[in-house]
Amino acid sequence: MSREIHQLRSGAADWYSGVLDAATEALPRSIDDARQLLAPIAGEVWMGSLTLHGAATAGTDTDTRTSRRVSDRTRAEVFRRDGFLCTYCGGRTIPRCILVAISDVFPDDFPYHAHYRRGTVHPAYWALAPEADHVLAHAAGGTSDAANLTTLHAMCNTRKSSLAADSLPVVGERPAPHRAWDGLLSRYAEIVAIGELTGRRHASAGYHSSWLRRFGQKAV
Ligand SMILES: [Zn+2]
Repeated sequence: MSREIHQLRSGAADWYSGVLDAATEALPRSIDDARQLLAPIAGEVWMGSLTLHGAATAGTDTDTRTSRRVSDRTRAEVFRRDGFLCTYCGGRTIPRCILVAISDVFPDDFPYHAHYRRGTVHPAYWALAPEADHVLAHAAGGTSDAANLTTLHAMCNTRKSSLAADSLPVVGERPAPHRAWDGLLSRYAEIVAIGELTGRRHASAGYHSSWLRRFGQKAV
């Protein structure tokens, strides 16, 4: 059964990342244990008005606002450099490719749809997926090198760049960086392997192997 979510609550990034951290930690031992840990957020689907800039398809990532100018390899480099933390709110991020891998393992509990059709994607994608945003705007002469890019939550990017932010929580002081947060990158290869064995693939063939390579991870 799905639960419709219309607004992200304050602290949504911490809440969702905490649940996903616990679930993916348990996953190699037991899919059932992981599913139980996922239960508090299972079946949620986003029904809010916020759209993602990167809301194209997980298969290609071609239609994002910035991807024509920022390569996927550079985005991976920027996310790693920034410790998978949003430089606007200080909160944890999880790259979309890793969220997709979790959806591959748990297609019903953690739903995803490559075209972000309304009501088919878990709100954690809105709360957690990072974007590589230009510090000095491209239009103002900013380059698309990593040095001019910064990691932002999709919702923080929207908050920063538009007034269409009524469904977003207010951001307070930036908290101290989380220790040892890696965006679940160290578990990515294993999650992909489990998804291939037991799950349902949501992205094109080669999607995860490409992102593993960009992030310098070996497939298992
Ligand atoms: Zn943020």
